[in-house]
Amino acid sequence: MTAEFDCPFCGHTNEYDDDDDQEFGFPCGNCPATIDLEYEDGYVAVMKACLKLECQCLKCAGDLALEITEKEGSDTGFCSKCKSKLLVTWSDSDVDDVEITETTIDFYCPCDGTALRLAEITSEDGGKEMLCRECDHNLSVTWCDWQLAEISVG
Ligand SMILES: [Zn+2]
Ligand SMILES: [Zn+2]
Ligand SMILES: [Zn+2]
Repeated sequence: MTAEFDCPFCGHTNEYDDDDDQEFGFPCGNCPATIDLEYEDGYVAVMKACLKLECQCLKCAGDLALEITEKEGSDTGFCSKCKSKLLVTWSDSDVDDVEITETTIDFYCPCDGTALRLAEITSEDGGKEMLCRECDHNLSVTWCDWQLAEISVG
């Protein structure tokens, strides 16, 4: 028995054959979506559809892949490279906007080269004081556009 159903992402009409096809992870014939189905008495119902959305981090151009289940929406994920938290908004199964909502800034102490990190940065520009754990100097670190701007020893 075969039955037809429409892809929730692109609207393409797919044909399901209950002899050959899998109910889980059915690949849409027109777009990269995979669809979970339920087949009963000659009818198929779409249970869940998934599409992988590829985005790029604004800070380091690293990749982020989100699994989306709706044509439009927004979700957060982490950059695979710099671990920044990114807010992705999409519509029509396409990326509309990527925003950084949180990042970490790695830097080295100018006195002794100790690797230090400022975590949980949630504003685009700002500054923070930090003690180097090795030399005990007070460092004043500023950032701009989510990237390290200046380090001064206080
Ligand atoms: Zn499709
Ligand atoms: Zn990144
Ligand atoms: Zn130091």
